[in-house]
Formats: sequence, C-alpha cells, structure tokens
Amino acid sequence: MTNRFVEAEDDDSNIVELPARWEHVAPRHIAPAELERFERHLAEILDALGMDLDTPGTRDTPRRFLQALVDSTSGYDGDAKIRTAFPAERPDGVSGRHSQVVEGPIAFFSLCEHHALPFHGVAYVAYVPGREILGISKLTRLVRLYARRFTVQERLGEQIADALVDLVEPQGVAVHLDAAHLCTQMRGVNEESSRTVTTFWRGRYDDDADLRRDFLDEVRSRRSS
Ligand code: ZN
Repeated sequence: MTNRFVEAEDDDSNIVELPARWEHVAPRHIAPAELERFERHLAEILDALGMDLDTPGTRDTPRRFLQALVDSTSGYDGDAKIRTAFPAERPDGVSGRHSQVVEGPIAFFSLCEHHALPFHGVAYVAYVPGREILGISKLTRLVRLYARRFTVQERLGEQIADALVDLVEPQGVAVHLDAAHLCTQMRGVNEESSRTVTTFWRGRYDDDADLRRDFLDEVRSRRSS
C-alpha cells in the first residue's frame, strides 16, 4: 500500500506533516514604529528623485510602496500549507516505471537582489514520482515561496528543484524558468525583448537524455499553444 499526497485543502481531518527540514516557516514581524520610520525614509528618497508627494495621488505612496515591497517578498514568511498534505491510498498499489508529472506555465514575480527591481516570467516544474505525489497547487506554492524574495534566477531554480527533492523524494526533478528582467529592460539598454532561460535537473534527468527531451518538448508545446 502506498500513500500518495493529493489536494484536499478543504478537509483537514486527515492531515499529514511533510518533512519540514527543507523550509522554515517564520512570518516576519515589523513593528509599527519601524514601519513609520521606513515610510519616512522612502518619502525622503522619492522626494529627492523628483516625486511630488503633496498630491492626493502620492500622499500615501511611501506607505503603499513599503507595503508592496513587503507583499512582494512574502516568500520569506514561508508557507505552512506546503508542509502539509493529505494522504490518499491508491488501491492498485504502485509499480513499474512512472512517467513525469509536468506543471506549468506557473507565472512568477521576483525582485532581483542586485537592483531590487522585478524579474518575472513563467516556470515549468516536472518530476518523476517516487512513492509520493504532491498536489498540483503545491507546486505553484513552491514556486511562489522562493520567487517572492530578493533573489536571482539561478538560485530560484535551484531552490525549487532542491525543495521538491526534499519534499517527495522523487526519482528526478526538472525546473525550467523563462523570465524578463526589468533591471536590464528599464534602464537605457535597449533590451525590451530579451529573456533569460534557465533549466535545472536533478536525479534521473541528469543522466536520461530522453527524459530531458520529453520535458523540453512538453514545455515547448505548452509555450506555443
Ligand atoms: Zn538586477
């Protein structure tokens, strides 16, 4: 008998804790007095850059900007819902060669740690299951957990791949990220159309060229549809 993890978020009667070693859930707390101080700093900077803060539209901009930064980096808070899953029993047991599970496109938005400007795009995540399957919505949560931080595309892909390995001990993991980086697009260099594409392999994908090709074919067909 094999346990498989499936989505059942409305039913908490049969909750299972997944291994927690890979991610620490620790919501950030910023004291109200600190927030007010940060807002004053932001107002000073925006003013110096040329923003007129004395209009109905901009009076609250420092507060909104700060809140937008907090929201955009909520990945640092962790995501307790990834650590829990619900087991379901597969009546026929599991045997033989599993095919890969591919999810995507999963839209993501990050802030690059070099400029604190957005990079955003789509992720495709695949794995060849071992004994457990993670619900599809958990894959989306996993991408957002690491995307909503100050990061770089390389680390983002590595973290998603490693977390998936830790979570369900699959036979292999593939992560494909395709993103546009505003820090290169917004600032003079004329690169409006440039994309950065990175792919990460773990386990069976490392030494199975057919599996890698199947994954990339699947990504390509989803991109063009
Ligand atoms: Zn940058």
